[in-house]
Amino acid sequence: MKNFLKNFLAVFLVLLVVAGILGLTRSGADKKPDVVDIGQLVQEINAGQVKKVVVQGDTLTAELKDAAAKKQEVKKEAGDSFGDVMKNYGVSDVARAAVSVEIKDENSWKFWMANLLPAIIPLVIIMVFLYFMTKGVQGANSKAMGFGQSNPRKGGADPKDKKTFADVAGAKEAKQELEEIVDFLKDPKKFADIGAKIPKGVLLMGAPGTGKTLLAKSVAGEAGVEFFHMSGSEFVEMFVGVGASRVRDLFSKAKKAAPAIIFIDEIDAVGRRRGTGMGGGHDEREQTLNQILVEMDGFEANLGVIVMAATNRPDVLDPALLRPGRFDRRVVIDLPDMKDREEILKVHAKGKPLEDNVSLSKLAQRTPGFSGADLANLLNEAAILAVRRGKKTVGESEVLESIEKVLLGPERKNRIISEKEKKMTAYHEAGHAIVGHFLAHCDPVRKVSVISRGTAGGYTLNMPSEDRHYHTLAHFRDDLAMMFGGYTVEKLIFGDDMLSTGPSSDLRNATKTAKDMVTRYGMSTKLGPRTFGEHEEMIFLGKEIHEQRDYSDKTAEEIDKEIKVLVEEAEKRANTIVLANRSKMDELVKELMEKETIEQEDIIRILGPRPTVE
Ligand code: ADP
Ligand code: ZN
Repeated sequence: MKNFLKNFLAVFLVLLVVAGILGLTRSGADKKPDVVDIGQLVQEINAGQVKKVVVQGDTLTAELKDAAAKKQEVKKEAGDSFGDVMKNYGVSDVARAAVSVEIKDENSWKFWMANLLPAIIPLVIIMVFLYFMTKGVQGANSKAMGFGQSNPRKGGADPKDKKTFADVAGAKEAKQELEEIVDFLKDPKKFADIGAKIPKGVLLMGAPGTGKTLLAKSVAGEAGVEFFHMSGSEFVEMFVGVGASRVRDLFSKAKKAAPAIIFIDEIDAVGRRRGTGMGGGHDEREQTLNQILVEMDGFEANLGVIVMAATNRPDVLDPALLRPGRFDRRVVIDLPDMKDREEILKVHAKGKPLEDNVSLSKLAQRTPGFSGADLANLLNEAAILAVRRGKKTVGESEVLESIEKVLLGPERKNRIISEKEKKMTAYHEAGHAIVGHFLAHCDPVRKVSVISRGTAGGYTLNMPSEDRHYHTLAHFRDDLAMMFGGYTVEKLIFGDDMLSTGPSSDLRNATKTAKDMVTRYGMSTKLGPRTFGEHEEMIFLGKEIHEQRDYSDKTAEEIDKEIKVLVEEAEKRANTIVLANRSKMDELVKELMEKETIEQEDIIRILGPRPTVE
């Protein structure tokens, strides 16, 4: 598009120049001499009225003595000279001598312009056109030929894109660790002089959206160095064999720009443990990884280039990457806790006029488990919602609604559901809510709704009141029971025959939870405190396909049995709670059918207080 515009402009410019020249040759059109016949000129010469005649080719231009009079133009016969003409018309020598004669070269530029330009201009236009076209093609070609080049996104130097630690809220420990890297990049010599060895690689580990890219960028910004950004998946895109050469190219660019930071996002895309047998021994990924290792080993530690890489799956990385001299610095970035969440919200609330009733600390309380990116997204959604409602400020209702939008996807109010389906959903969700409400180890139920969101028909939202880092057995058991709440109620109210496909994802989640309890957390008394299966996670097309079995078939049977025990126990507990609270449930369903969404206060009003954990 840009190229086209350039071509267009060039052609336009050429045309403009041409028009100008043509205009020039034509200028003075109104001063153009009168065309007269030769007899008149002869008469005037004889009468002594003519001052000067200019001969140019076959054109005679006469200038009269009367200054006010117009010039006169006469065509003479080709081949005859001016003298011949005078003689032929019998002009006396005396009269002729009174006229000064000037012979002008016919080859004046005007003549050439007038005759040749019309022929030349199209040619020039075509040539200009061709020139730009071939240039465009060359550009495209060089792009295709340059697939071995890395084309990293640059940053850091660009003031618009510049980030500093002030842009990163919370993450105090991570910032502290990276401070040292900033110091080094600012003055590598100081460190080299006393023989200090500087880390070459820093691995940022953390869940998606926790600000790894942001941190790397801010290190570059703080140190004022060049920032080269590439994603692991970009190395192994299109053609076989380009990954390694892209790595080489990226490093050489960075070395030229040193001091600089190379940031490789999603390094697990190339840095996954080698030799797991998938895709043959020498696949693309492996060569790329090898090249990264070679480059990192190759450059001098004090050159001023630091490689930062980000991953949310440090467990799958090839150990070779983590060896000394490579990514030997590791910085863990956790999901933000409540205080950090408030800080992050403050950063992203800048420039968004919030109403007084919006409390960021309250909002931070209500968003456990949210990443920095989620929080940024949350405030953005709230602002969009405010605009859509025609408001100039963002109020509490927009903010609260956006929490759910970020958690569950947008509401689908216009999905048409029949009254019967709505009733089924209401009972289902009420079942989850009641079980969750009456089991002390479940997170408090915040909201129940029969409005579909994302893929869910309705939803029951329960969230912890504070950050939690460990899950206890009691917690797992209660959660498991709550998952069966919907299923149990559907069976109870509509009968076995009417069981819908609704609870299928509940059952899947429950089975997975039960399996994890047995095989990963050692929570089965019968099988004892050990783990089963080497969970070396190979993600293939987003699925875990690989589980190394380190137990016998007999144990596998035992595991299945234990899972069954857990699941059946959970269903029974759910059933008991539902039966004991039948009338409350009916009331909850009634309100759900009316209001569609019920908040925590109303849930407590209907169901009564929750049991507390001793
Ligand atoms: P990652 O690379 O870890 O997936 P990003 O660095 O891309 O995450 O973060 C995405 C966005 O989330 C950032 O651009 C920023 O707007 C926001 N964000 C994440 N963490 C923070 C934080 N600690 N402070 C401020 N904003 C943050
Ligand atoms: Zn459910």
